[in-house]
Amino acid sequence: MSSYESACHYFENAATVMDLSPNMKKLLLTPEREVKVQVAMKMDNGEIATFVGYRMQHNSARGPMKGGLRFHPEVDAQEVLALASLMTWKTAVVDIPYGGAKGGITVAPKSLSPNELELMTRKFVDELQDVIGPDKDIPAPDMGTNAQVMAWIVNQFEKYHGFNPACVTGKPLELHGADGREEATGRGVGLLTAAMLEKFGRSLKGTTVAIQGFGNVGSFAAEYVHAQGAKVVAISDISGGKYSAEGIDISAALNYVCDHRSLDGFPSEKQISNEELLTLDVDVLIPAALGGVLTHENAGEVRARYVVEAANGPITPDADRILQSKEIVVLPDILANAGGVTVSYFEWVQNRQYFKWDIERTRTELAKTLTASFEKMWDLATEKRIPLRTAAYLMGIGRVGRATVLAGI
Ligand code: NAD
Repeated sequence: MSSYESACHYFENAATVMDLSPNMKKLLLTPEREVKVQVAMKMDNGEIATFVGYRMQHNSARGPMKGGLRFHPEVDAQEVLALASLMTWKTAVVDIPYGGAKGGITVAPKSLSPNELELMTRKFVDELQDVIGPDKDIPAPDMGTNAQVMAWIVNQFEKYHGFNPACVTGKPLELHGADGREEATGRGVGLLTAAMLEKFGRSLKGTTVAIQGFGNVGSFAAEYVHAQGAKVVAISDISGGKYSAEGIDISAALNYVCDHRSLDGFPSEKQISNEELLTLDVDVLIPAALGGVLTHENAGEVRARYVVEAANGPITPDADRILQSKEIVVLPDILANAGGVTVSYFEWVQNRQYFKWDIERTRTELAKTLTASFEKMWDLATEKRIPLRTAAYLMGIGRVGRATVLAGI
């Protein structure tokens, strides 16, 4: 099942509970605009290279569209569209005044020199500058892009439109970025894991955790749960996994990755594979790397009691059913990793008010937003006896649907 089919499957599940009409379903699923562009440029060696870039603008019923830009070799139209629709429901679940979009270029960014990466980014903005902007569609970092890429985007956009820091989020602090944006997704994952455990009379203290992916999201999530007393027994990145029954020294791992850009060579009790990490006997499993890592083939072997979807779409619908049948609680991506877009919203607010918040304000507001959304999702799931994912979709689809109808079609 493709990521787009998975996204539609989860939508359908919720739409059935809501008894949405076929016409309404079609309206909410159909993207408003699909942009596919050619990004042609001269490489450092003088050769011409041509890349394909996308911006899928799924829905703007609740406000300007919002979503990341991914530079990755597996980016394709269907995946970007699936992720764009996920953004529509995600921004609605946390009730921030945005719609959903996503974009990307099919490219392995590590194969480009810094000059080539900058040129490609600027050429991409040249193609998109008339369809994005602070009141239309606001990109942000995702896999393969970072604050530096956002800095090139804002600079290129401003060549057409003048001073416009709110045209993109996840910018460096020196260019009107927000304190706390970098940690926001991982911190949110940690906060929400704690909120979920509390519902079962538990806390992070002493809870064992395995985290797949030690990039932006995985590393900040690890840092947060470790600081709250959890025992992070396994971490991994593309080079493989590290296991320690006594708990990994997270600060040492963070320092190691800072120096070596990978966990490869980081000392641990045992070297494990990314596949083994997913089926470890732990309390909480946090997939924070790629989509589609838990499938019908390995979901039956998951031993964690709770799975927190820090990555986008790490569980296929088949795997989701298996986890449900094993009574494993899944905290769904559309809320679990919404901390990033929430603080992106705070960055946009600050940019538009020309007023900077300190990090404590950002952390307080983030916790308030995520906790309120979690409580609402929990209550809905309990009241209707539905999985947390379906409850979150119900909240998201309900808000987008009502906004659409109230505005008039
Ligand atoms: P990142 O590029 O910073 O880190 C990705 C991590 O995954 C790295 O440690 C990398 O080595 C690892 N990885 C890559 N391929 C792997 C593989 N085959 N097996 C195991 N590990 C692998 O990316 P990120 O920003 O941390 O994003 C991770 C996930 O979280 C993505 O699904 C992304 O869409 C989602 N997400 C990110 C944000 C954000 O604010 N960064 C917000 C919402 C959702």
